Order: sequence, then C-alpha cells, then structure tokens
Amino acid sequence: MSRRIIIEPFKIKSVEPLFISSPSEREEYLQAAGYNPFLLKSEHVLFDFLTDSGTSAMSSAQWAAMMDADESYAGARSWEHLRESIFNLTGYPHILPTHQGRAAERILYGYLGGKGKHFISNTHFDTTRANIEFSGAEATDCLIKEGQDPFLEFPFKGNMDTERLEKLILEKGVKNMAAVILTVTNNSGGGQPVSMSNAKTVGEICKKYGVLFILDCCRIAENAYFIRHREDGYKDKSYFEIAKEMFSLADGCVMSAKKDGLVNMGGFLALRDRKLADACTNLLIITEGFATYGGLSGRDMEALAVGLKEVFSPGYLTYRIRSTTYFGEKLNIKGVPVMMPIGGHAVYIDARTFYPHIPVYQYPGQALVCELYVRGGIRSVEVGSVMFGKYDENGKLIPAKMDLVRLAIPRRVYTQSHIDYVAEVFDELLSHRDKVRGYTIIEEPPFLRHFTARFSPVGK
Ligand SMILES: *Cc1c(COP(=O)(O)O)cnc(C)c1O
Repeated sequence: MSRRIIIEPFKIKSVEPLFISSPSEREEYLQAAGYNPFLLKSEHVLFDFLTDSGTSAMSSAQWAAMMDADESYAGARSWEHLRESIFNLTGYPHILPTHQGRAAERILYGYLGGKGKHFISNTHFDTTRANIEFSGAEATDCLIKEGQDPFLEFPFKGNMDTERLEKLILEKGVKNMAAVILTVTNNSGGGQPVSMSNAKTVGEICKKYGVLFILDCCRIAENAYFIRHREDGYKDKSYFEIAKEMFSLADGCVMSAKKDGLVNMGGFLALRDRKLADACTNLLIITEGFATYGGLSGRDMEALAVGLKEVFSPGYLTYRIRSTTYFGEKLNIKGVPVMMPIGGHAVYIDARTFYPHIPVYQYPGQALVCELYVRGGIRSVEVGSVMFGKYDENGKLIPAKMDLVRLAIPRRVYTQSHIDYVAEVFDELLSHRDKVRGYTIIEEPPFLRHFTARFSPVGK
C-alpha cells in the first residue's frame, strides 16, 4: 500500500458552512434536548457523526442524473435505470423499491414473522430487531466469540458463529425459522466485516435446512474492500465482483441505500423467489407505493442507480476505508479505547473502559456522547445499554453486552483537517475523564427508545 497521505478523491464544487458555537451554548442546547443528541437541532452541531445513513455528499454525476429523471407514476424510465443497476449487482430478479431500509424490513420480516417465528443474524441492527419483535417473532444474535471482544485483532469480526447457527436452527425447529440474516458489514457489532467463506458456510447451512438466507447489504461495498484486502483468493477480483459473489450465495437482500447507495434517501428489497416477491409486492403497494417506485421519486431512483456504481470505484473505497482507519488509529495512539481493528464506516469507543467509574446502569456511553458534544460540538451515538438495554420483571436494567459510542463517518463529507480537529477534542476528554458523571433515563418510549428518550445527569 502506498505510504503517501490519503487524499479525498474528489474536488469540492459546492460548500455548506459549519456552525460554530461555544461549550456554554452547547451545554444549554443539550439540556434543552434532554441530554439526548438525537433531539438536538443539527444547526447546533459542528461535526455530525451521528450516522453515516443518508448523510453522503452526492457526486455531480448523481445530480446530473436527477435533473434528467422521469417522474411518471408507473413504468418510469428512472425505475428501469434503478432496476437494472440493482439487478446487475445482485442478480436477483424480483426488485422492490422502498423509501428506506426499514420499509423493506417491515415488508419482508412482517410477512415472514409473527408469533412463534425465529430469525437468526450475526447481529440484528436496531430497526431489524424492532421490526421482527413488533411482528411478534423472536430475533437471536449469533456472532462469533471474537466479535464480542472489543480489542481483539481479528480480520472478520462480523462473522456468524456457524456452529451455533446450526444448533439454534435445530433448537428453534426448522419449521419455525423465518430467515437467517447476514448483516454486512456488521453495523451494531462494530462495523466489522464478514468473510466470503463465512457467508458460504451460512448459505450451505440454510440450504441444508431449507431456511431463507437474506443479506442485509447496506455496506456490501465496504465489506468487499475488506474481503479483497484480508481474505485469501480475492486480491485480483474487483470490489464489484466480490459483492456479486456474496449476493450469489443468498436468497435475497434488504438494503438501506442511505449507506453504500451514496444517496440521502432510498432502499430496496430484492428476492429470487417469485411467490415471496409477489406477497411482498402486495404489502409494498399498501404501504410504500406502486411497484415501480416504492416510496421513491424518479430523481431518488436516478441518484441511487448512479450511486450503486460509484460506490465500487477503487479510488473511492480506498479513501473511504483508509480515512476511517486513519481516524480510529489516531484515537488509539492517544489511549482512547477504540474497537480494533477499525471497521468500515465508523469508529467505536468502549465507554465502559473510557469511564470505568460510571456504572453500567448510569449509561457510560450516554456520558461520552454528551461530553463529545459539549466540549467539541461533535454529535455521536450511544450503541449500548440505552439502545439495546431491556428491563427484567422487577424493572431492573438488563444491560447490553457492550457499551459503545459510535462516531459514524458520512461519505465524502468531511476532510482530513476536520478529522484531525475531532481527534484533538479527545485530548480534552481524556484529561477530564474522572470528573464526568453518568445519566439516568427520565422518559422513554416502548420501542427504539434511544431516538427519543430524555435523560438527567446523575447528582445534578
Ligand atoms: C441503516 C440500517 C438499516 C435500516 O435502514 P434505514 O434506511 O435506516 O431504514 C438496516 N440494517 C442495517 C445494517 C443498517 O445499517
């Protein structure tokens, strides 16, 4: 690999000013937001690492395609462009456009789910789990042991534990299995990649028992980068070929195009099986829109058709993954407990290690998210006991396995000097770490509570 500095492989044609504020102003904004950065106004945020979802900067080619979009209700030219782009990549004949990933999840998992049904995944993403559980079905995570140790260096920490997968299928009963979902890369598990050989084994097990195998392929291009650079036998294949090979192993996919689609809105569901696709199309028309647009306008479909090609460009993917690694390694050298190796779209910090004095039931991850905002104007997200915690029958918190904070990097948005600033803010956080206190939840909804819960600082 070249030792030269990683450059952004684009020049900037259009700019948007950043909002500069002081720590005391941010303290006020955060208090008004119930100490939940999801409830902040984005104009009060300097660097927004809340999510890489729908936050990409589009290319001039995407904007140009949007201008030429066909907004017809049915059979639009823009739909043909999108359908072809998705078919060339996935090889799945039945394609259903949706307004975002969770709409595809709601349709597919709502149809397959229901009481008594089981889903198994390397790790269910939060909206995936919510849609499954909302249908009455059960979602079981089945990640390899290595993926559960935040500091262990291992090339494919997103892999499914395939021995346990087979046991789980037998234990839950083959006839009760709704689907096996392989999430690539594994978002909630640290943005860690899944190897091709693991996907193959998952596919074989699903075939053996006749269980539907679905790829949650939001970050399939980023995953392909890791396969090419870490797995034997792939260094001479293109990223696109690697992704195609992975799709060939599964029965269908669900995609939030807001990630590797390089668009601000969009998603789809693609399936091999005609009957399943027909059933899903009926649901699509009820909740999303006619089958040739789902929840999307013609211009959304054009932007996505182009984005799905651009994302596999070697120059882009090298910059994307290497700049994320640059950021994570910079924090690691400072002594910030980051999950290693660095994943594709985000840097994850282990908040229990960062704030060892804050007990888990006072949400150390929430404390870190609040500190990053007040001290640096940086918005990040807790991926831990706020997001995944549950209560037992006595109302006591059952914490998540890990309390992480995620800084997700929007695609093609920030430059290296922006990243260097964020790394500097961590110096301040490190020097104040003993003084930081935890939080309690004072208000929360029954599902996806991290989006709207309100908090109160302990001892204030
Ligand atoms: C973002 C995401 C989803 C949900 O997609 P939305 O577009 O946000 O509805 C599902 N699975 C994974 C792995 C994701 O990252």
